[in-house]
Amino acid sequence: MAGVIRRLDEAVVNRIAAGEVIQRPANAIKEMIENCLDAKSTSIQVIVKEGGLKFIQVQDNGCGIRKEDLDIVCERFTTSKLQKFEDLASISTYGFRGEALASISHVAHVTVTTKTVDAKCAFRATYSDGKIKAPPKPCAGNQGTQITVEDLFYNVNTRRKALKNPNEEYAKILEVVSRYAIHNSGISFSVKKQGDTVSDVRTLSNASTVDNIRAIFGNAVSRELIEVGCEDANLAFKMKGYITNANYSVKKCIFLLFINHRLVESAAMRKAIETVYAAYLPKSTHPFLYLSLEIAPQNVDVNVHPTKHEVHFLHEDSILERVQQQVESKLLGSNSSRMYFTQTLLPGADCSSSEVVKSAANPSVVTKGTSDKVYAHQMVRTDSREQKLDAFLQPVNNPLSAGPTEVTAEVNAGPPEGAGRPQDAEMEEVSDLVEMADVQEDAVKPGGPSESRHLSPETVPSRKRPREDMDIELEKDHTRKDMTAACTPRRRIINLTSVLTLQEEIENQAHAKLQEMLRDHSFVGCVSPQWALAQYQTKLYLLNTTKLSQELFYQILIYDFANFGVLRLSEPAPLYELSMLALEDPESGWTEEDGPKEGLAEYIVEFLKKKTEMLKDYLSLEIDEEGNLTGLPLLIDNYVPPLEGLPMFILRLATEVNWDEEKECFESLSKELSMFYSIRKQYIIEEANPANSQNEDSESGSTTWKWTVEHVLYKAFRTHLLPPKHFAEDGNILQLANLPDLYKVFERC
Ligand code: ADP
Ligand code: MG
Repeated sequence: MAGVIRRLDEAVVNRIAAGEVIQRPANAIKEMIENCLDAKSTSIQVIVKEGGLKFIQVQDNGCGIRKEDLDIVCERFTTSKLQKFEDLASISTYGFRGEALASISHVAHVTVTTKTVDAKCAFRATYSDGKIKAPPKPCAGNQGTQITVEDLFYNVNTRRKALKNPNEEYAKILEVVSRYAIHNSGISFSVKKQGDTVSDVRTLSNASTVDNIRAIFGNAVSRELIEVGCEDANLAFKMKGYITNANYSVKKCIFLLFINHRLVESAAMRKAIETVYAAYLPKSTHPFLYLSLEIAPQNVDVNVHPTKHEVHFLHEDSILERVQQQVESKLLGSNSSRMYFTQTLLPGADCSSSEVVKSAANPSVVTKGTSDKVYAHQMVRTDSREQKLDAFLQPVNNPLSAGPTEVTAEVNAGPPEGAGRPQDAEMEEVSDLVEMADVQEDAVKPGGPSESRHLSPETVPSRKRPREDMDIELEKDHTRKDMTAACTPRRRIINLTSVLTLQEEIENQAHAKLQEMLRDHSFVGCVSPQWALAQYQTKLYLLNTTKLSQELFYQILIYDFANFGVLRLSEPAPLYELSMLALEDPESGWTEEDGPKEGLAEYIVEFLKKKTEMLKDYLSLEIDEEGNLTGLPLLIDNYVPPLEGLPMFILRLATEVNWDEEKECFESLSKELSMFYSIRKQYIIEEANPANSQNEDSESGSTTWKWTVEHVLYKAFRTHLLPPKHFAEDGNILQLANLPDLYKVFERC
């Protein structure tokens, strides 16, 4: 049966139309904000109750509405902004249809209070279904307009039921207002719930766009922003905005897109930009973007329906491509500065990216560090024997040993004795000795870093010579120091003020966090003789082995002053020859003016011969009566200084040490010795055939510098080094990466 066609009641028509324009409180607020902006306001304040369903108030300081216009302001198709259809092409206001206020008044109770600049007072009127209920009443009021909307959808049951979550509506309101606030820097915005004293969104009229982004999305976003901008006359468009660099990512893309100052959606634009970011961000994470496009009005259909956010425009593909290019080039450029940013982080300093970000307007921002759950990116490798750098640096000519397990075995095999034992056993042995020494001598500073370090020179395997090409024999020194029946060397107690002061200086300089890092680090691998990588917690550090070892030896020299074993040279080394070698070296800085080298060398020998007593007694640096070097101090087990540095050391011993003042003398002596003992790249010869090290066995007796760095030096750093504070600042210990940040990159692999 065919139905009867009837004309709908006008009120029903308007209500249906209104429902299309105003679908939820946030739409109403958007329309009202646009009206405020059209009225040239500089301050816009929004107050809502129950997510805007109960009450909305928007107050501005704009031009106001003339009293004469108040009668029709809420009627459909009444506007002050457009007169002829042709004006549309050049319209510069948001509104032009005269539909918003009418729509709102069909689904809510509207009250307008307004004052223009010439009016003596403000006027107030209330509206229902587009009609003014009574003539406007004069009242007090500031210039501008205040519009209140009460009981939204009071007459649209279904809509009211669909919107029963005020929090959700409030979140939408915050989203809309904050986006307009960012796009309209120079105008202050605020949103709060009725009764609250603090605004949930608040921007200031003198704030910049970035300030506004910071105020709304937090520092985590604003500090990673890159400014973008491009222009193309042929395509008749301009673009500007701010986008986050590759440091920042969120679970859900935040994309603020304005085209000709209207907040719009463009799925095509979103996709185009996300494609670019996909190469930079971890899988399924997204950037923050604020883009403002201005496209020649004739190329965009401005006659959009109020709720139609999705836009299309002429030359869309070409414009998207230009925007993509711009984003890509900026992201590329930001990579190098990102490097700089992470390098300035000090060890121990909290990684800023773990900062908790709280933002009401933006609940999707990933917040870290707030739960007890341990995520993969927070997990820390704790077994230092697991894969190290070497596992990834396979010698190509050795296909059989391609598996990392094999290499790990090699790395851990080490020299046959001493160091190969489980650490616990060694610890026990040492602590036994400590106990003995304590009982016998009430020995040295408790808690000092090097306590009883060298009480067991016998742990050095005498048949094992770390480098075969060196004529050095390791010997236990039974002659000089008193030995107990149990062969435990007695420790001499040093009460010299100079030495105690130097010890104190070391302690005062110590950096506790760095010390903790060194103590608990996992060694990752050697980058070069000078640099090594170590992991601590979720962070990767680059450490200057040269400087750290130098500091280590210096501290050992100061703490174990006068208590060293001796590394005996199998062939005495003539000081004269050594001095001559050093003077030949351009590094010595010798010039004709200094006189003949031979004379200088002779002088050096004679000078050092006068110091033999002291050098031997305090430093186990032995020089015989003929002027030959015969012994060097044994500073740590299994370690022989790179003897290539010996000539320069001898020269500097005679020329660089302050022999006059006691403290300065011990200090500079220790400095010179520690420099000589440190691992220095100019004295390290890379193994000719690294593949050989695969077959290293206990018989060959050859130790690689890499092995020494890892198992002797870094082992000693754990317990014997009090890292000075300046290491955290001068780049000798650098934090390279932090796992949570790396995750952003590696998750993609
Ligand atoms: P449109 O914005 O499309 O003109 P509206 O229904 O949003 O239509 O508003 C109708 C008219 O009411 C506007 O043209 C404007 O003259 C006036 N008006 C609305 N809000 C304000 C305001 N906050 N300040 C000044 N005038 C306003
Ligand atoms: Mg409007």
